[in-house]
Amino acid sequence: MINMVLASNNEGKIKEYNELFFGYNIKLYLLKDLNIVSDPIENGTSYIENALIKANEIKNKTDYYILADDSGVEFEALGEHFPGIHTHRYALENGGNEKLNPKLAKEIGGSNGTFYCALALITPKKETVTFLGEVKGKVANKCEGNNGFGYDPIFIIDGNEHPNAYYSDEIKNKMSHRAKAVKLLLNYLKENNLLD
Ligand code: IMP
Repeated sequence: MINMVLASNNEGKIKEYNELFFGYNIKLYLLKDLNIVSDPIENGTSYIENALIKANEIKNKTDYYILADDSGVEFEALGEHFPGIHTHRYALENGGNEKLNPKLAKEIGGSNGTFYCALALITPKKETVTFLGEVKGKVANKCEGNNGFGYDPIFIIDGNEHPNAYYSDEIKNKMSHRAKAVKLLLNYLKENNLLD
């Protein structure tokens, strides 16, 4: 059994990680379960760097596996790699996703985009590994659905008819950027015989 602490306070992500790790020999803890307070400044220049900042911040506070993530979306119509590593701030500056999503649907509906999820894993031996999952899609012309979080009401994964928020967690978790990154992580754990 692997004990793993997730270096995130984002409820939407926590829910998804619990579902993505379901059925594996991994017990997922939250920072608050271990009384760890962490809110580092994410000033990296890439998703991977930001995930590493979050993981390293608690490196000496636990001997469990540490998992940190950083995610973001890039919409072609908004320029190169934008909002990218500033995806969270971009939503905040535009009144949150409730306000931003309909605006994006109206202004850049149809634009291609890519969602990224970087994961940084620190093992109990303090070895660090990173993984990057990505999924291509486009901006919907209108918001649709109530599941998921963030940009899910307007992000349509290639091959789908509706945005992520329209589908169940189970379906989103088969194809999202986060699901792809977690798959790489699980493969790493399996290949190194760390997962019983
Ligand atoms: P961070 O990884 O916590 O920095 O979050 C980056 C931003 O991307 C936040 O605004 C999230 O709401 C958004 N985001 C991350 N993952 C997803 C997702 O799976 N669906 C929709 N929005 C997401």
